[in-house]
Amino acid sequence: MNPSDPWIALARHAPLGILSDLDGTLIPFAPRPEEARPGPHVLSALADLARLPGTSLAIVSGRRREELDRLLAGLPAVSLVAEHGAWRRGGGAWEAAPTPLATPPEAIARELEALAAGVKKAFVERKSWSACLHFREVSRREKPALVVAAQAAVGEWVKAHPEYELLEAAEALEVRAIAMRKSNAVAWLRDRAGTGARLLLLGDDVTDEDMFRAAGPGDEPVIVGAAGGRSTAARWRLAGPNEALAFLQWLTEARSDRPTPAPVALPVPVAIRPKGRRGDAPRRLLVISNRLPELRSPVSPEEVRKRNVGGLVSALEPVLSKRGGMWFGWNGRTAPADAPPSVGLSENTSPALAWLELPQQSYDRYYNGFCNRSLWPLFHTLPGRARFADAEWEAYVRVNAMYGAAACDLVGADSPVWVHDYHLYLLASELRRLGHRGPIGHFLHIPFPSVDVFSMIPWAEQLLEGMLEFDLVGFHTRRFAENFLQAVGALSPAVVGDDAVEHRGRRVRVGVFPIGIVPEGFQEAADSETAAEITALLQATAPAKLVLGVDRLDYTKGIPERLEAFGRFLECNPAWKGRVSMVQVSVPSRADVPEYAEQRQRIENLVGRINGEHGEAHWVPVRYLYRSYPHRHLAQLYRAADVAMVTPLRDGMNLVAKEFVAAQDPARPGVLMLSRFAGAAEEMKEALLTNPWHTDGMARDLLRALEMPEEERRARHAKLAACVAQTTAATWAEGFLAALEACRSV
Ligand code: UDP
Repeated sequence: MNPSDPWIALARHAPLGILSDLDGTLIPFAPRPEEARPGPHVLSALADLARLPGTSLAIVSGRRREELDRLLAGLPAVSLVAEHGAWRRGGGAWEAAPTPLATPPEAIARELEALAAGVKKAFVERKSWSACLHFREVSRREKPALVVAAQAAVGEWVKAHPEYELLEAAEALEVRAIAMRKSNAVAWLRDRAGTGARLLLLGDDVTDEDMFRAAGPGDEPVIVGAAGGRSTAARWRLAGPNEALAFLQWLTEARSDRPTPAPVALPVPVAIRPKGRRGDAPRRLLVISNRLPELRSPVSPEEVRKRNVGGLVSALEPVLSKRGGMWFGWNGRTAPADAPPSVGLSENTSPALAWLELPQQSYDRYYNGFCNRSLWPLFHTLPGRARFADAEWEAYVRVNAMYGAAACDLVGADSPVWVHDYHLYLLASELRRLGHRGPIGHFLHIPFPSVDVFSMIPWAEQLLEGMLEFDLVGFHTRRFAENFLQAVGALSPAVVGDDAVEHRGRRVRVGVFPIGIVPEGFQEAADSETAAEITALLQATAPAKLVLGVDRLDYTKGIPERLEAFGRFLECNPAWKGRVSMVQVSVPSRADVPEYAEQRQRIENLVGRINGEHGEAHWVPVRYLYRSYPHRHLAQLYRAADVAMVTPLRDGMNLVAKEFVAAQDPARPGVLMLSRFAGAAEEMKEALLTNPWHTDGMARDLLRALEMPEEERRARHAKLAACVAQTTAATWAEGFLAALEACRSV
């Protein structure tokens, strides 16, 4: 990425808030505060910036109101925050911050004045709720004794006045009410700037760190100067006040309609933060997915087999345990919008877990919005269902930054990071920006669409840029990988090879890693399980042949299309009436999203229609179950089925297809009817491939499946079972991680 790109994006963002400290940030320090004043070029730069539409500029300072009024007179568009956030003036008169403040620190101010009185060029500056001893010009000989005496006096006084704190600023020592913090000004300015605002925060001093810490994921905190070598919460650095001013002038130009602003020294990332602080040893692998699996107790490989843990958990748990890794994601809970995102940790689960809560609005816009209503339908090539909103894309960018900021403390800087799915495409660039050096891989669990469809995303180029920051991008099928390579070729300047992309001097590997299941679990359960509920269901359908559908209730799964085909089959083959029943298990999913509620309604209407049209007193054509079963019960159902209709309109892989095959009795196997648009179809060529968009064709294929001779069924099943045994959950995870590790050597 061109280093100016993120700054151009910030400069063009609307609304934009800029909160800058004055002394040491925009003007150099002078020996005495009254001697430091912004010159005409500073004033005119501030006036130019504040004048731009959609821009809110505020100067935040430790100085008193009268001083700020005097120094920045004639800049009515610039808001002011005085005394570290205690007072603010946004256009009208000064108002006190609503925080309850302590009484003035009169006694300690007098004590400091007494100390200063004996030392040449030391003086105390009094403010409403603080007193500051300045010693910039005190001789090197006298300074240490003065500082030690002042520290001791303030230290004692603060013990008795816990609402105050001691702040050691640049060449000054201040006793200040704790409630007076520049961070107060961050929320205030964000409010003034308006919904969706990003903030640029500039400061140089220890009192500016509060402000940096209050930065949101879309904000950019910049420290000006070397910060006396201390560590900082800022993400970026500028060399000094001259550079800060030049940068604000550049920002003004970039924000105006002028084509290309003259180049300046842009902020550079603050040196890499120490990593792995949260554990004794840095983690050797970090897995990041949007959502954490629910794991409350250690999961042994034995338990994985027996319990209904998802495919992803059974695949990742062993590789994480082996590598001392951690899984990080959203814990499924939402937090109030103004709560700073905090990371929770649990070391006694297997694997170790870390999580964050998402602010409610981010959840709505990022997760329900951009992820579920834009990317999900579009990546499944259902563009009619996709819709795009600027605010949702911005939330996606912000939440990715939030995950990145939290993740970088959870893993060693050189460790591999494995990111899952379309929710987190911008994570690699964020981790790199924060100094991560180890290989970062991405695996997409859903299809990658053709370039024509992908390019319908208004931010297609930005998403691709994000994807190209990974070292390895993995897909379930060759087809999805090729779609991705074509999109890169068409929409980015990168050089595309067969299994790699060269981009801005880096190599991004592109690989195919089909996910699988733990087949033994389904085989064993199918051999041994006789759950009463499933047995009763099977007795109710017997002696009719059983056609089975098992899916999450999602419009990509093609459930209505499958039911239509079953209805057509009965119409065209009346001799089969009474001799075949369909069981459709639909697992509730995203029930709060209107499209899913509507899909459920459509399915229920269709089931009613088919049963009404074709049913008889002794025979129910379709049994519909809106619920979920544990794997061991599913295995029993799979084993009993004569045909599984796995007919998604489009699917990344589809594990039900593999589970069905694993659960069959090899001597008398059922038939797998599989959509040619499921990722599984690329490997499972011996299935009866079908087109879910073609009702008549699917009805014909169902007849063929029901009439398939046993010999053909056995031959097809043997090949399918070999394929399910060959690409498993374990081979998928190990294969991807081996490829990710190999990226180091490039
Ligand atoms: N599943 C389940 N209980 C049910 C129905 C489905 O545990 O009643 C599981 C099923 O065993 C499979 C997963 O849900 O492991 C569905 O995965 P698939 O890849 O087929 O589709 P996805 O829901 O991930 O799109």
